[in-house]
Amino acid sequence: MPKVPKRRHSHHLIEEDERRAFVQAVNECGPDFNSYRTVCVYKMKAMWNKAFREHQQKSPACEGKLSCDLEKEEKRGFSSRQTLICTSCSYKSDKYSLYEELETGKPGRKPSKLDKAVHVGLSQTPIASSSMSKIILSGNMQAPAASSLQRRANKVLKNIVDVNKMDLRKRKNEIIEINRLRGKEDPNTISVQMDGMYNNPLYSGVGRTPFQLATQTVHTTAENINKQTIIY
Ligand SMILES: [Zn+2]
Repeated sequence: MPKVPKRRHSHHLIEEDERRAFVQAVNECGPDFNSYRTVCVYKMKAMWNKAFREHQQKSPACEGKLSCDLEKEEKRGFSSRQTLICTSCSYKSDKYSLYEELETGKPGRKPSKLDKAVHVGLSQTPIASSSMSKIILSGNMQAPAASSLQRRANKVLKNIVDVNKMDLRKRKNEIIEINRLRGKEDPNTISVQMDGMYNNPLYSGVGRTPFQLATQTVHTTAENINKQTIIY
């Protein structure tokens, strides 16, 4: 008796179905049909709900499906602006921004909150924006152009430096105030304890110098006035 496993047969059917769905998706949405986008959930929800209602009102008898018009897509950093079209009738939705906008108080296009927020994370990790792009693009996700990443990074990094300076100034003034209340002669003198660390191992200077060799040194400073002992 010939052995034709049933599972193999059904497996082939599934593959055929998948292949057909793939071809249909390419025809309807273009070659980008299986790429990924970053969308803000509530913005996406609003877009689909409004478009479904509009489509039904405009063409009540239409059985067509709504799809993203990727040819008309406007890329905005990690996110995009999308238009929905019907595969059967002539329905076309408004263009929707699928990201939250950042209020700048200036005229012109408002940047995406997401694009700015990502740079805060990037500034606290050892990878460069080019590495981040590589990771994102290898996942078939949309990444901002290198030039726009650099432009945004310059702005965000300056903001981070400004915020840190402001914070340090505030802390310094608090310490000076504590010193003043304690009746210290010179309230501007802040007592600290420090610990240093070199980039070369301790034994690297053996036989050459009684001290430790180093080309770089890092110091951690903790002030001794505040109860919280803030470390810098
Ligand atoms: Zn339609």
